[in-house]
Amino acid sequence: MSGGTGAIWESVADLVGRENISLRKEAAGIDPAAKRITFTDGETVNYDVLISTMPIDRLTDLAGLSALAEPASRLHYSSSNIIGIGLSGKPPESLNKKCWMYFPEANCPFYRVTVFSNYSPKNVPDIETQWSLMAEVSESPHKPVELSKIIDQTIDGMAATHLIGKQHDVLSAWTYRAHYGYPTPGLGRDAALNAIHPELEKYGIHSRGRFGGWKYEVSNQDHSLMQGVELIDNLALGVPEITYWFPGTANNLAYAKLR
Ligand SMILES: Cc1cc2nc3c(=O)[nH]c(=O)nc-3n(C[C@H](O)[C@H](O)[C@H](O)COP(=O)(O)OP(=O)(O)OC[C@H]3O[C@@H](n4cnc5c(N)ncnc54)[C@H](O)[C@@H]3O)c2cc1C
Repeated sequence: MSGGTGAIWESVADLVGRENISLRKEAAGIDPAAKRITFTDGETVNYDVLISTMPIDRLTDLAGLSALAEPASRLHYSSSNIIGIGLSGKPPESLNKKCWMYFPEANCPFYRVTVFSNYSPKNVPDIETQWSLMAEVSESPHKPVELSKIIDQTIDGMAATHLIGKQHDVLSAWTYRAHYGYPTPGLGRDAALNAIHPELEKYGIHSRGRFGGWKYEVSNQDHSLMQGVELIDNLALGVPEITYWFPGTANNLAYAKLR
């Protein structure tokens, strides 16, 4: 297998039809009354219904709905730094069948590490002599991160947690910072969302997805996809949405088996 997780969504894009997708177009402004989006390249597009997956606080801002700035400010999130480490040799035997592991201890900066080369031999140039790990380091106002030290700290943490040993040379390192990483569930979250959605809907705007919906418990890829599927079913056929409005039901195994 090649292409990583992205290969799934490349296949979905084929089903949707590439002619219906425009990439690398950034919305610069939304006129909710006129139902018009202006993009940074100057193009404008009119819509009947707008489904947005950008972070909902950015959406209310771009739409100029200043009354929604206050509830949007009550939504919290953390960032995530992704660090890819290419290594020489073979993984320790204990990692041979591992996909990902969580690290709550204080002896490393990351909360999760994925054995990336276990997903596909094509994730490294030569699987006979190389392997790789991907670490995730959370960041927020409560937990600042020194970006200039993050690679060294990650490698030290991988040694401290016995993921790597002296026999492994670091061949490459790569980092990416997801500013919007995790939508933080909080006590005021649902009240804030319940204040925002009806106002958006008055203008035919619907916000779903990981940060469009801002519900951590239904924000993985499968959930995010189903939020979109169910919203369309609702708009077209009046079928109630389950995943977004009833996360407990969506995450109930008995319900999952019914589907
Ligand atoms: C560190 C990390 C680890 C994760 N691990 C997993 C995992 O193991 N399993 C899993 O299932 N999921 C995981 N996820 C979640 C997964 O990435 C999300 O479920 C998925 O990306 C949500 O899709 P989405 O379309 O809702 O949002 P996104 O993928 O966030 O898409 C929103 C899009 O809106 C675009 N956008 C923002 N502003 C504008 C603008 N002004 N104009 C135009 N476009 C704009 C953004 O560029 C982005 O492409 C992880 C996420 C993170 C950050």
